Amino acid sequence: MANVRLEDIKRRFNNVTAIEDITFEIPDGEFWVLVGPSGCGKSTILRTIAGLESATSGKLFIGDRLVNNIPARQRDVAMVFQNYALYPHMTVAQNIAFGLQMRKFDAKTIQDRVVTVARSLSLEHLLDRKPKQLSGGQQQRVALGRAIAREPQVFLLDEPLSNLDAQLRDDTRAELKQLHQKLGITTIYVTHDQVEAMTLADKIVVLNNGRIQQIGEPQSIYGCPA
Ligand code: ADP
Ligand code: ADP
Repeated sequence: MANVRLEDIKRRFNNVTAIEDITFEIPDGEFWVLVGPSGCGKSTILRTIAGLESATSGKLFIGDRLVNNIPARQRDVAMVFQNYALYPHMTVAQNIAFGLQMRKFDAKTIQDRVVTVARSLSLEHLLDRKPKQLSGGQQQRVALGRAIAREPQVFLLDEPLSNLDAQLRDDTRAELKQLHQKLGITTIYVTHDQVEAMTLADKIVVLNNGRIQQIGEPQSIYGCPA
């Protein structure tokens, strides 16, 4: 776990400013949600934290470490996308284990982690299946499992539930919340769904046109729940 601090981050693509004046600090273990209209810069912020984009200017810290020039693979950050992109020829267990094998974890640790992750996401009975033998919700749980198996310091989710139907979205959202309560990994979550933001967030960052419009607790953003 680690705090995440952005200091005056800006990202320009040619002459388009995607984000600017982005400054906030997420305390260790909190769950923050980025909201705002399409094109406001949510994904650019996540991808910059992940190291998939580089900031044009500004400073990005994970823990005490300035990571601007640290490649994605060395940032100890895991990211889940809306199109869960599991490896189709691998089983669920192999998908979950993949990132650990890449990082040369020993076989015993990998086995233990796969079992623990499968248990926490109710995937134990599916470990030998291939992705195409799973429902969309199950596939997305595997994608979450693959991301958390290596116990990253920071967990980034870009609209992870938006391809699921309404019931699965509710169930998976509840599972995500439980998972966060159990693991306490610092999490940054992009959505345009107000219910997701309300139920998951410690703090919500409202973006508009590449800038921060407001940061606050869900009640202060959306008003008190009835
Ligand atoms: P959001 O995730 O909120 O929909 P994005 O971060 O994807 O917003 O995009 C923010 C702005 O940056 C948009 O104007 C988008 O067109 C622009 N942008 C994002 N990625 C690129 C890119 N690779 N090249 C050029 N412009 C980009
Ligand atoms: P690791 O855990 O080592 O990041 P992954 O299998 O999760 O390994 O990802 C391998 C590469 O593929 C990473 O660079 C990651 O950013 C990218 N990736 C993983 N899932 C997706 C996805 N759904 N969409 C786009 N890129 C992805």
